[in-house]
Amino acid sequence: MKELLKQLPKMNELLAHPDIKAWSDVYHTSFIKDVSNHVLDQTRQAILAGSVESVDQEAIVQAILEQLSDKSTPSLQRVVNATGTVLHTNLGRSVLSEQVMDKIKEVGMSYTNLEYKLAEGHRGSRYSHVEDLLCELTGAEAALVVNNNAAAVMLLLSATVPNKEILVSRGELVEIGGSFRIPDVIESVGATLKEVGATNKTHIADYERAINEETGALVKVHTSNYRLIGFTETPSDKELVDLAHEHNLPAFNDLGSGLMLDLQSIGLPYEPTIAESVSAGYDVVTFSGDKLLGGPQAGILVGKKDYIDVLKKHPLLRALRVDKFTMAALEGVLRSYRQPSRAFAEIPVLSLLNQSEADLLAKAEQLQEAIEQLDLDFEVSLVSAYSQVGGGAFPEALLPTTLVQVSHPSYSESQLERYLRLSKEHIIPRISDGAVQFDVRTLLASDLDRITDVLASINEMK
Ligand SMILES: *Cc1c(COP(=O)(O)O)cnc(C)c1O
Repeated sequence: MKELLKQLPKMNELLAHPDIKAWSDVYHTSFIKDVSNHVLDQTRQAILAGSVESVDQEAIVQAILEQLSDKSTPSLQRVVNATGTVLHTNLGRSVLSEQVMDKIKEVGMSYTNLEYKLAEGHRGSRYSHVEDLLCELTGAEAALVVNNNAAAVMLLLSATVPNKEILVSRGELVEIGGSFRIPDVIESVGATLKEVGATNKTHIADYERAINEETGALVKVHTSNYRLIGFTETPSDKELVDLAHEHNLPAFNDLGSGLMLDLQSIGLPYEPTIAESVSAGYDVVTFSGDKLLGGPQAGILVGKKDYIDVLKKHPLLRALRVDKFTMAALEGVLRSYRQPSRAFAEIPVLSLLNQSEADLLAKAEQLQEAIEQLDLDFEVSLVSAYSQVGGGAFPEALLPTTLVQVSHPSYSESQLERYLRLSKEHIIPRISDGAVQFDVRTLLASDLDRITDVLASINEMK
């Protein structure tokens, strides 16, 4: 064992190795040393554990080179979303258009008027770039943008009703995933949640009975990612808003996804739009930028000027503020909404949702043919199925789609899935019995070629 330890290469020998030395253009020597030490340590541990019989110097060099190379690959990568879930939170939710990305690039690589009024030549507000647009599109008096919708809700409650009781229906105590749970959010800002009604039924009288001098606000939370069906009841927006205002209390609405346009025209169920929620009289309405709006990650608050003004002055806003990239993207996306037909054409999230069954079938046939032409023993078939909206929106909506189902006699579905995921294109398919499936709904223009390219090298699978 001692002999083996002695045979480990010395650090200066490793650093002098031409292939390792070549990395000094990329990394500082101390970093190369750390990586080399890490590999030496692992080998040393293996020797001490008795699992190594001879020291292979060349294998150690190769291991170091592999780690140096791995570390030069950025962690955040593009992936091919073949799951069919349009707003896939794990895969980064919405996709932005080239037009919007051009704008982000332009403002990123230059100075901007982010907080500068060009007309007057003095300091301005970063929020001004989208406030008028948001008001125009939603009918609200004022608007504000923060980091995400979770931040929007926290800012709203912290600034307006800390230390107060907040009334929420028992049917709306939503968990969004990650760590966003309405009861926890309310508690975290120092307010007290007062649950109202029953899980399936909440009447306006339940809210009325719960109001006392400790009450701070009535909050309606959109049940984004689940539905109560059967024997259910909730008061209308108007009843809730009227009751709040009779008692001089604010009524807030956390809409979650936030629809700028009614999507029934493309086959989705009815959900209230942001404008409807504003016109119902809610004092502040909050929603996400990167769910169905199809924009960058952001939390948007629209509503009465008196309330938004309070939020604008709250110190928490500074901690939640968005940068010029978010502003550029959000402005670009909102501008498309001025003409709904443009919105469907220009906002990728909406165009992905709006594909016809015939278009999806044609896309699937194109992919099927390309895979069959590889002539590599893939069994390819088309399967009718449903895609999901995702992002905790429209949980019950069924979007008809076509899956391209692929199997191979030499590989199991989990081998195929792993191969696709770890390939240079990082393809994320669905999996079913013995096969992987590509839902063509979420495949972008160049993705068919990416999938075919990767499948072409299947026999190099390690
Ligand atoms: C998604 C969602 C949130 C959180 O929004 P993020 O933008 O992900 O922070 C909050 N409330 C509801 C009802 C939601 O659907």
